[in-house]
Amino acid sequence: MPDLLAAALDYAARGWPVFMLARSKRPVANCPPCTDAGPDHDRDACDCLTCHGFYAATTDPDRVAAIVAAVPTGQLALRTGARSGAVVVDVDPAHGGRDTMNVLIGRGLLPPTAYVVTGSGGWHLYYRHPGDPVPCSQGKPGQGLGPGVDVKADGGYVVLPPSLHPRTGRPYRWTPGRVMEEMPPALVTECRPTPPAPPPTTPHTPTSTRAAGGISFPDRLLAAHLHAVTTAAEGTRRTTLYGAARGVARMVAADAISRDDAIAALTTAGRAAEQTDRDIRAAIRGGFHAEGLAA
Ligand SMILES: [Zn+2]
Ligand SMILES: [Zn+2]
Repeated sequence: MPDLLAAALDYAARGWPVFMLARSKRPVANCPPCTDAGPDHDRDACDCLTCHGFYAATTDPDRVAAIVAAVPTGQLALRTGARSGAVVVDVDPAHGGRDTMNVLIGRGLLPPTAYVVTGSGGWHLYYRHPGDPVPCSQGKPGQGLGPGVDVKADGGYVVLPPSLHPRTGRPYRWTPGRVMEEMPPALVTECRPTPPAPPPTTPHTPTSTRAAGGISFPDRLLAAHLHAVTTAAEGTRRTTLYGAARGVARMVAADAISRDDAIAALTTAGRAAEQTDRDIRAAIRGGFHAEGLAA
């Protein structure tokens, strides 16, 4: 067993709140009173050495010693985020993390910094916490930095060297000679949840629509069809345009929009989606025909 206690005290002395995970790499189970405690229980103030996962993390040397003694075969862990001033980019090559990391490096999002080689052959890249909250991406599919790359920040933790990986038995190791760098602003932005998409806009204005045939908000319906076209992924644009043409054709049939306005709006949207005029005409003709209209 590596000397977890000496390492834990070193981390604590530099201001990093540490705690122990169970051997499984998961937080130690709460004691019965903490398990039964209601939502008003103050996890930060709780005196238990190993309850509430990272809430038990501390920089107090006596408590650190007691925590390590309480879970001697577990893994030493760091509470990430503002408390430690550390944001960790967790790269897992088993899930495509190496490719994602190389893309992120190419975009300038991951400048050289202090890092750990994990016991399972991944990497933990350590950056300075920017001050404003940075959420964790862990456990939220599609919210990481890409396949196999997660962010551990406020509300998270990482296993620290010299812990042994429970499956491989290999230690987590610091790569020597590296200094923890600032997070590039673009990386901070990337770590924050994406703001909601702006409301759909109609590329072709003005187009006059009118409520008719059971269509109460024809302008919104038209905007939604056109928005689908202008935001369609490459490779799906032609079929999306065809689908939009069918939808707009139904609006024409319901007399909610004129045929000429419908074709003009679809043409503008198709051009915005980088379709050729020939393909646009074909999609509109096909879509209109499918709905029983001439185009
Ligand atoms: Zn407890
Ligand atoms: Zn408690």
